[in-house]
Amino acid sequence: MAQESRQIPDRCRFDVAVVGAGPSGLVAALCGAEMGLSTVLVGPFASRKDTRTAALMAPAVNLLQRLGAWEALATGVAPLKAIRLVDSKQALLRAPEITFLAQEIDLDAFGYNIANALLTEVLERQTAGRLTRIASAGVSGIEHIADGIRLTTSEGEMIEASLVAAADGRHSKMRDAVAIALSSWSYDQAALVTTFRHSRDHSFVSTEFHCQTGPLTVVPMPGRRSSLVWVETPDNAARLAKLGDTAFLGELADHIQGLLGVLGPSSPRQVFRLQGQTAKTFARNRVALIGEAGHVMPPIGAQGLNLSFRDGAALAEIAATARAQGEDIGSTAVMERYDTARRPDVTSRVWGVDLLNRSLLSPYLPVNLLRGAGLFALSVSGPLRRYLMREGIGLTEALPLIMRSVDAGLDKAISPLDGLGSGRA
Ligand SMILES: Cc1cc2nc3c(=O)[nH]c(=O)nc-3n(C[C@H](O)[C@H](O)[C@H](O)COP(=O)(O)OP(=O)(O)OC[C@H]3O[C@@H](n4cnc5c(N)ncnc54)[C@H](O)[C@@H]3O)c2cc1C
Repeated sequence: MAQESRQIPDRCRFDVAVVGAGPSGLVAALCGAEMGLSTVLVGPFASRKDTRTAALMAPAVNLLQRLGAWEALATGVAPLKAIRLVDSKQALLRAPEITFLAQEIDLDAFGYNIANALLTEVLERQTAGRLTRIASAGVSGIEHIADGIRLTTSEGEMIEASLVAAADGRHSKMRDAVAIALSSWSYDQAALVTTFRHSRDHSFVSTEFHCQTGPLTVVPMPGRRSSLVWVETPDNAARLAKLGDTAFLGELADHIQGLLGVLGPSSPRQVFRLQGQTAKTFARNRVALIGEAGHVMPPIGAQGLNLSFRDGAALAEIAATARAQGEDIGSTAVMERYDTARRPDVTSRVWGVDLLNRSLLSPYLPVNLLRGAGLFALSVSGPLRRYLMREGIGLTEALPLIMRSVDAGLDKAISPLDGLGSGRA
């Protein structure tokens, strides 16, 4: 990993300054550089203590390959060949169990499960030689100048750029500096995450148990290992986090109904309070929002980071096109273009995840009946299943070009790990 910050060159004016070097900022900066924009990435190195994994779907995998990061990731990822939904609610009527197969939409895998810490480490390495990386503790000042923005780091360095990509997380200072308002809400839920070993093969199937307090999802990792996202009440998540390994794995085994055989041991557990948040506009006054600076949602359906990759790719594409046409890439017209491009994708995912989460929590029989009927329709209707699978992984018409498959067009995702499925678990 590039632990040293590069000296700011004499010419400290850039096309794009990306603020925040979490996974969204790293990808946005690499997309900017890939599209020929002079790019600076400012912020601390992402935490290596993040025990989360991200299920990154086919378009995001295409992008990682395009950015040259895939080869270094490939040994640490597991393909998701199928997604299984199991109704574990103690409701009067149980919804039918459903399994979606990637093959049904001509893919080898819907995507790949990747540890966040590995992802950010590899992306960080990719920045070397492609863009200017300033490993600052953070940007503390932002000032609009005649034709751009001047940023000041907490170490006193100054950077100027035509456009700022704010990837500084859910409490974004860059967003506040241009007075972009938010809709925010919270859920009485928390997600406990860990990874664990098991005696039985996962067969590259991700299984989501729909429980009374939210979903419990086990996602394949390489070998006989899986990652866990267990949505519970905040009190119960805190209790589970404090249990010894044997007691914790015992409760987990009960919840997953013997799915993976004998469990253990597990890695350190982390708990995340669930929140929802969406910006009222996604760009204003030379600042465009990327990742959690623009949208936060519960970890259901693996949408958050996949959406953030699309933010970064779309911004780079829109800015590079504008520059090629002689436009100021931070102009109001370009900001509006980005807002228009991202709004439908972001808002439909934020509200879709919210609806799904609330329908799982609802104690009301009519809501449970509706959910069951929806799942039944999905279990019998091929076209509906295929449409939803494609939508769920983000294979949409509006996908930025650099997220499309290099050699097979939009309908076929690249499967860099073809054949990997056999013999790894
Ligand atoms: C339990 C859980 C499971 C999840 N699973 C999935 C999944 O399977 N698939 C998926 O797609 N998504 C998933 N997500 C969502 C995904 O983890 C998030 O979308 C992603 O981590 C957000 O990354 P980010 O870069 O936008 O924000 P962050 O990771 O918060 O990064 C923001 C960065 O900005 C920096 N920063 C802050 N202020 C400043 C400043 N002033 N100057 C410079 N830098 C600054 C911070 O230090 C940080 O490094 C999950 C989320 C949770 C909670």
